[in-house]
Amino acid sequence: MLDIQNFIDGSFTQAIDGESIDDFNPATAQCIATIPRSQSADVELAVSAAQSAQPGWTALTLEQRAVWLDRIADALEEKTEHIARTESIDTGKPIALARKVDAARSVSNFRFFASFGRQQTEMTFEMEDAMNYVHRSPIGTVGLITPWNLPLYLLTWKVAPALLMGNTIIAKPSEITPLTAHLLAETFLELGLPKGVFNLVHGLGPEVGQAILEHPKIKAISFTGGTETGRIVARTAAPMFKKLSLELGGKNATIILKDAELENAVEGAVRAAFTNSGQVCLCGSRIFIDESIAEQFTHKFVEKVNSIQIGDPMDEDTMMGSVISPEHLLKVESYIELAVEEGGTLLTGGTREMTGFTGPQGIGAFLRPTVVGGLSHTSRCATEEIFGPMVTLHTFTTETEALEMVNTSEYGLAGSVWTNDLERGRAFSEKIDSGIIWINTWLHRDLRTPFGGVKNSGIGREGGQWSLEFFSEMTNICVKNQETV
Ligand code: NAD
Repeated sequence: MLDIQNFIDGSFTQAIDGESIDDFNPATAQCIATIPRSQSADVELAVSAAQSAQPGWTALTLEQRAVWLDRIADALEEKTEHIARTESIDTGKPIALARKVDAARSVSNFRFFASFGRQQTEMTFEMEDAMNYVHRSPIGTVGLITPWNLPLYLLTWKVAPALLMGNTIIAKPSEITPLTAHLLAETFLELGLPKGVFNLVHGLGPEVGQAILEHPKIKAISFTGGTETGRIVARTAAPMFKKLSLELGGKNATIILKDAELENAVEGAVRAAFTNSGQVCLCGSRIFIDESIAEQFTHKFVEKVNSIQIGDPMDEDTMMGSVISPEHLLKVESYIELAVEEGGTLLTGGTREMTGFTGPQGIGAFLRPTVVGGLSHTSRCATEEIFGPMVTLHTFTTETEALEMVNTSEYGLAGSVWTNDLERGRAFSEKIDSGIIWINTWLHRDLRTPFGGVKNSGIGREGGQWSLEFFSEMTNICVKNQETV
């Protein structure tokens, strides 16, 4: 049982009013930690520390801050196993996945931004009689608010560029998965990161999260989470003219064109649907299949889904663990019931059975991967974000029809298109309302590329230069040539 604390001004500390919240392992239903239930007074302390640290951190050169990022990457890499185990216990995800995805990416986020920062050159615009150059300064103190599905992966995706560009940080991880943010703070303490540069306040979104949004000295908010929370973030921060990055929900499409290489398409569609129990914002939860291959595809798809090994997240062979919480399990189950009410057919899954693992406190939040056929693409199950191990299958007869169905979604984060004709794949992909499309692959990431959504999936882009732009202010300085004055 861990006693997690806030990290403010380089020290671990309880919430001022001493309140705490329990944190559970969803696979075992065991309480594994308590975290501070912080309020605005805690945010005030954190902001004060961040503001005091600002001049010193800004005074470092970009190269010096890149060296810090490399040191952090090295330190996290040494803790790979610790990160993976902690993330697995906190989220119920398989240890193998936590190692390969969460731990590895947390390291590479720091390493990537260190190297990307070093490659930056000054932007200049020459005129006949003058020279413009663009100076980048830090924004100041920034607020980073993150969700539970990829806790350290998504937090470090924001922390690394924010630090690189010279900002000081107030971070708030999800109250459901606070452990690896604590591990990051411990790492900063061990490395001797200057006090106040990184501050961590734990607690509930509407309390401590809201206090971060409202604090006048926090000049930018980078938020990743649900669309409804995103609306609150925008409503609070926009009238204060804070810089805002909103990475929100999705209802991503996987589109199987008739000339797709079937085995690859099946493999990719299963991975896109059920990685992390379908709890990745990029997961493809609506699958559109050309009618001419629908029967064959569906048969192979269901067969592959049935081979997913669900069980103890700590077992190296487990492919799917629990969902994030008993509450989330009930939410996904309510959609399974709704699917039947809406006239759908359960092709597999829909029950809580899993392979021979019971946590010490009883059965955790396990649900079999669920595939539903026969629903309209406008049904609630096919339009609302479920964010769990449940997908709907739909068929189309022409590509125009497919595009219409895909684009009815109010979301537009990501998707994948499967075809043997790359020209056709590109032409089709360009017509999808979405921030990211993969052709014949899924979640294949180059960290230099723009990441983000359209429509209700968010505003702004992260990644490469987009992250550097978000976490800095640009001043154009125009210098008139002396001889022409
Ligand atoms: P959530 O919106 O409930 O919570 C996200 C964070 O916001 C948490 O830290 C929470 O405590 C905080 N929060 C809640 N209310 C707040 C408030 N009033 N003010 C400030 N902060 C507040 O999301 P979740 O359930 O943790 O995560 C799942 C959602 O995140 C899904 O919708 C998923 O699609 C989305 N997501 C999006 C991306 C992306 O890159 N677009 C990535 C991962 C997850």
